[in-house]
Amino acid sequence: MQGLLEVTGLAGGYGPLQVLWDIDLNVNESETVVLLGPNGAGKTTLLKALVGLTPPRTGGILFQGRPIEKLRTDQKICLGISFMTEMGVFTNLTVEENLRLGGYHQPRDQVNNRIGEFYTLFPDLHGHRHHLAGALSGGQRKMLGLVKAFMSQPRLVIMDEPSSGLSPRFVGEVVKMLSRLRTEGVSFLIAEQNVKFLEIADRVYVLDGGRINFSGTVEELKSNQAINEAYFGLKGH
Ligand code: ATP
Repeated sequence: MQGLLEVTGLAGGYGPLQVLWDIDLNVNESETVVLLGPNGAGKTTLLKALVGLTPPRTGGILFQGRPIEKLRTDQKICLGISFMTEMGVFTNLTVEENLRLGGYHQPRDQVNNRIGEFYTLFPDLHGHRHHLAGALSGGQRKMLGLVKAFMSQPRLVIMDEPSSGLSPRFVGEVVKMLSRLRTEGVSFLIAEQNVKFLEIADRVYVLDGGRINFSGTVEELKSNQAINEAYFGLKGH
């Protein structure tokens, strides 16, 4: 498998507060990687460091073999990295305005085509295209956030807790939607606490106390009793 994102020895935090310690993490082409960890583990801080919102103190980040740790967030977006925050959308803009914003550095024709394709794929969004994102249900908003993250034609979509604030039924819908979008050959790095996302994971990292303390396949995670007991209550084999 071809490496897409390669993180080595990354440390970071907020001012004098160090949150992340010696993080090594890879995402390959067309791979879905889930970053699991309890509240306060540092998942959001790590994703922000990757996209440049809290610049790392030390460590390297390669994207398609090119060092990117010193690039601005908008430069990373142009390279093909998309970031879906926990909130995901601008509530004071309409559905369609959100989508256009997601593709702001793409040619207009391409954006129009892409919006058309997504409306066909997700008719619910089409029905709400002139409504404010803030008027949508939590599940619809999440769906919009996801689609918006795809508007920039990314190679890698980085997502912060796509399940947050959703009922179990909607979490199932989001997982289903992601598995549909995966077929486009895009890679995903998804920070989550919800083990439902393991259904679509090729590999998993577990972050706790700002350090990676497990890395492997879903099968390896499920057969690792210590990790399971500590965090997830998953059944071993
Ligand atoms: P959650 O699922 O609760 O969001 P998380 O794994 O994403 O957890 P982070 O939000 O990255 O964890 O938080 C890691 C640590 O960094 C916590 O101790 C938190 O208090 C601290 N922290 C987060 N944001 C800031 C900030 N803006 N300034 C200072 N400390 C912060």
